[in-house]
Amino acid sequence: SGSYSSGYNKPVVGKGGRVPVGIGRRRKRVVVTGGAGFVGSHLVDKLIGRGDEVIVIDNFFTGRKDNLVHLFSNPMFELIRHDVVEPILLEVDQIYHLACPASPVHYKYNPVKTIISFALVYDIFLVFHTNVMGTLNMLGLAKRVGARFLLTSTSEVYGDPLQHPQKETYWGNVNPIGERSCYDEGKRTAETLAMDYHRGAGVEVRIARIFNTYGPRMCLDDGRVVSNFVAQAIRKQPMTVYGDGQQTRSFQYVSDLVDGLVALMEGEHIGPFNLGNPGEFTMLELSEVVKETIDPTATIEFKPNTADDPHMRKPDISKAKDLLNWEPKISLREGLPLMVGDFRKRILNEDEGKGA
Ligand code: NAD
Ligand code: UDP
Ligand code: UDP
Repeated sequence: SGSYSSGYNKPVVGKGGRVPVGIGRRRKRVVVTGGAGFVGSHLVDKLIGRGDEVIVIDNFFTGRKDNLVHLFSNPMFELIRHDVVEPILLEVDQIYHLACPASPVHYKYNPVKTIISFALVYDIFLVFHTNVMGTLNMLGLAKRVGARFLLTSTSEVYGDPLQHPQKETYWGNVNPIGERSCYDEGKRTAETLAMDYHRGAGVEVRIARIFNTYGPRMCLDDGRVVSNFVAQAIRKQPMTVYGDGQQTRSFQYVSDLVDGLVALMEGEHIGPFNLGNPGEFTMLELSEVVKETIDPTATIEFKPNTADDPHMRKPDISKAKDLLNWEPKISLREGLPLMVGDFRKRILNEDEGKGA
């Protein structure tokens, strides 16, 4: 039933959409920025699946058309190539704001030093600029049309946390001048902007703090640990464990995250909410699970760790359990096999592309 205080009863704007669906539920028009990316494309599948009209805004910085190609002939789906740093006019009910360049980890181990420094400067500008200007534009859009706005923030707002597990009330331990700060501080600023638009302009906002998530369609080479280990095991390369491998992360399967994002958007609570799986693993344990899942002969090699790498991370999800009635269902051992087929296929295509 209609749970919206705004957006819902506005005059019908824009042609097309707005067809009544069943009794008491009007078809919603939803924007997903970053919808060609890993999480975004799974979210779009779910929204389309339940009958929403979905507009994706993406500049394909890290996303791929391949992630959405199965929807191209669907009349409820629309893809706009656009950089959220530039303003845009649309008439919509809900905005899921995911657009954000991946964190710059993938540049850090480039052995050519000059390229490292160039890439980091480039990325700091891009990450911070996208988080600030992109979020501001989407909030401006939400304000103008009375849409509900959901920000995908991150567990990185907690920095290298001194509280374990992390609760939403924790303000975090971010090094403002560190190598990863452009991402962490960019997201912290985005949260601030969302709350300012809520308090100052009455925009209905929702804030999700997403913990490490994995699944099919993850970028192959953005340097995240799950995609690295899985791709390395498939390619018969050693899995690269950074530092002593005793640092921990808690890994969430993408469908659990998508369910959480929709529950948050549809619910009555602003957040922030931690969305993650509390199952906590050291990187050495993760490499063991990947080995069991993909190749019992897989090996590891140790590499130096990055500066300011958080020593441990695990969400306290009691708030989301209580208020959103949400919790993840898929454990790491159940979820990992679900991404292997997709990775094998893409790695094979890549090799063929290279004429291998
Ligand atoms: P992704 O890189 O696969 O997706 C991001 C998408 O945003 C890509 O399609 C990219 O092309 C697009 N994009 C980037 N800059 C843009 C711009 N200026 N204009 C338009 N589109 C732009 O990453 P993902 O893992 O799917 O992450 C989605 C969101 O969730 C991000 O905001 C990310 O910070 C957040 N998040 C993800 C994780 C995770 O573990 N995957 C954890 C915490 C937070
Ligand atoms: N904006 C947008 N689409 C809209 C409305 C606003 O892209 O439909 C952008 C607008 O260009 C501005 C930002 O969102 O850069 C913030 O808009 P707001 O109206 O809050 O601020 P103002 O334009 O008054 O500075
Ligand atoms: N990591 C690793 N090997 C890799 C990539 C990452 O051991 O090939 C480690 C990294 O040092 C960090 C953890 O895995 O401690 C998670 O890294 P990721 O970049 O996936 O996520 P984040 O640091 O953003 O949580």
